Amino acid sequence: MADKQLIDRAEHALYKTYNRFPVVFDHGQGVKLYDTEGNEYLDFGAGIAVMGLGYGDEEYTKAVEEQLHKLTHISNLFYNQPAVEAGEKLLKVSRMDKVFFTNSGTEAIEGALKIAKRYHYNKLHESMGDGAEGCEDVDADMTGEIIAMNHSFHGRSLGALSVTGNAHYQEPFKPLVPGIRFADFNNLDSVKALINDKTCAVIMETIQGEGGIYPAEEGFIKGVRALCDEHDLLLILDEIQCGMGRSGEMFAWQHYGVKPDVMTVAKALGNGLPVGAFLARGKAADAMVPGDHGTTYGGNPLVTAGASAVLDLFEKRHMVEHVRKIGAYLAEKLDGLVNEFDVVKERRGMGLIQGLEFAGPVGPVVSGALLEQRLVLISAGADIIRFVPPLVIREGDVDEMILRLRRAIKASF
Ligand SMILES: *Cc1c(COP(=O)(O)O)cnc(C)c1O
Repeated sequence: MADKQLIDRAEHALYKTYNRFPVVFDHGQGVKLYDTEGNEYLDFGAGIAVMGLGYGDEEYTKAVEEQLHKLTHISNLFYNQPAVEAGEKLLKVSRMDKVFFTNSGTEAIEGALKIAKRYHYNKLHESMGDGAEGCEDVDADMTGEIIAMNHSFHGRSLGALSVTGNAHYQEPFKPLVPGIRFADFNNLDSVKALINDKTCAVIMETIQGEGGIYPAEEGFIKGVRALCDEHDLLLILDEIQCGMGRSGEMFAWQHYGVKPDVMTVAKALGNGLPVGAFLARGKAADAMVPGDHGTTYGGNPLVTAGASAVLDLFEKRHMVEHVRKIGAYLAEKLDGLVNEFDVVKERRGMGLIQGLEFAGPVGPVVSGALLEQRLVLISAGADIIRFVPPLVIREGDVDEMILRLRRAIKASF
């Protein structure tokens, strides 16, 4: 076992909410990772869809290093250049109107939920004729309800957990935020059936990640958009995992010709620096006012310099076009595994967010791939292997991954 001593220390010191694999990673280069014993691994997990540019990218590192020496933090009581630049670049690629930088995906979700609640509150007060400000209590019965999806994942804080459609994650922490109702993803009637006078928003991932890599069907997402328009609800699309080029568009909703009112990003935005964002457009962009929301670190110059470099390098290197090509290649090779092995039932996904559903638990394949084949893979639910590699992978990396995965499948089934 690698670095047994360090693993023992970790188990003593670190709060135990994870079952970790017995590997201690030391450094990375491109799509390769190296453990403390010098073994080289091929990485198809990207630290859970984070390391879009891969490890040790020189231009990215240089940009972050320059900012590290200049100014890392100043708080949101003042202006700083990197936040403005990263914000403008993010608005340009998303065509949204306003952006708020957060420290994580979960916090981006919290902000998005607060916009929905604030939007509803403003509407109620307008209809009561007292404007958005200076209001008395709104009847608790009238507070906004949010429709979320079964098998979704939006994060672990209490608000984000409240819209995460996973009973196992929720159960020990109840009661959660009230007024959340769950529909079935890709079932428009189930959404329609939950809409009432109190509904203020629908939240969903454009491609469900944790839940097993399920892309939204076009009729579904367009139908939800139409329902939101009809009932004046905000459509919140969570692009934390599927966004930032991974699907073969900058944001996965761009495949469908629909636009969210509110969108969340994180994971690949900082290429490893902790930064997320919520973005809003139209009326949703003005729903919250000064004093409604805040963060000490969020959008600090260090992390936004990282985000800014990521957005520049995506454009300069035509990352989205690359993902489309290499994603098609990966899909073709994964389809080959569906044909080759009876235990591999189905492939789902878009671009470089792909899933393979197996006939049984994939735990042994994932740990065999890691420990024997030196291939980093992650699962999404018990029976699904998720492929979310650095976006910079090439055909040779896909071929090598398939070779090692085939061996791991053969050894496990
Ligand atoms: C990872 C993830 C989150 C939570 O992001 P954190 O940075 O872990 O807080 C939310 N939504 C989706 C779709 C995710 O994949």
